[in-house]
Amino acid sequence: MNVITLCEMCRVAAPIVVDSHSGFIGQLSASTAADPDAEGRHSFGYLQAALEAIGLVDYGLVLFRGFVEAHGGHGAFTSVSSEPDDLVRAMEWADEAAPGSDDEDDTPPKGWVWGSFELRCNTCKKRRRCFALSVFEDRDARSISPAQVDMFAEVLPLLSRNFHQDQPLELNALAKIGRFLLKHRDHELGSRIIRDE
Ligand SMILES: [Zn+2]
Ligand SMILES: [Zn+2]
Repeated sequence: MNVITLCEMCRVAAPIVVDSHSGFIGQLSASTAADPDAEGRHSFGYLQAALEAIGLVDYGLVLFRGFVEAHGGHGAFTSVSSEPDDLVRAMEWADEAAPGSDDEDDTPPKGWVWGSFELRCNTCKKRRRCFALSVFEDRDARSISPAQVDMFAEVLPLLSRNFHQDQPLELNALAKIGRFLLKHRDHELGSRIIRDE
């Protein structure tokens, strides 16, 4: 499946993010309020904030947020097709090519790395390394507070109906992250990115 998001008003395509990470979450709104529409879809901003609360700062989602902030109120729309030609046509229609769409080189920009996400509980000396490689913010280990665990846990059950086609993140992996976090909620929790060497 190919998913492309375009702003009709500005004739601009949203970024197609590295590899299969071309999907996104929620409605095209940067609002961080928990305010679902009639079909239970929440704003992109609200869902992404909960992922970032536990240190999941995914390059694709951050790029996509830029698009949502700029075009969310413009009647931007998403087109889904299994035909590669449809994607090409959509890209041709857009005056401005989506960043990364014809990038052969998948080296992340400065400040970002290919890596995997690891949670650890320092109280129990347990770790959980999660899912396939993605491009994450290159950063030091970060602690996770009980309030941040709660923020993530609140959003977790909403994600399945808020993913658009290609999932930017694996639901199964996110569910495992949720279980680990809730189990160790009141302990000394943290996350870090393990670089892919
Ligand atoms: Zn626009
Ligand atoms: Zn623990």
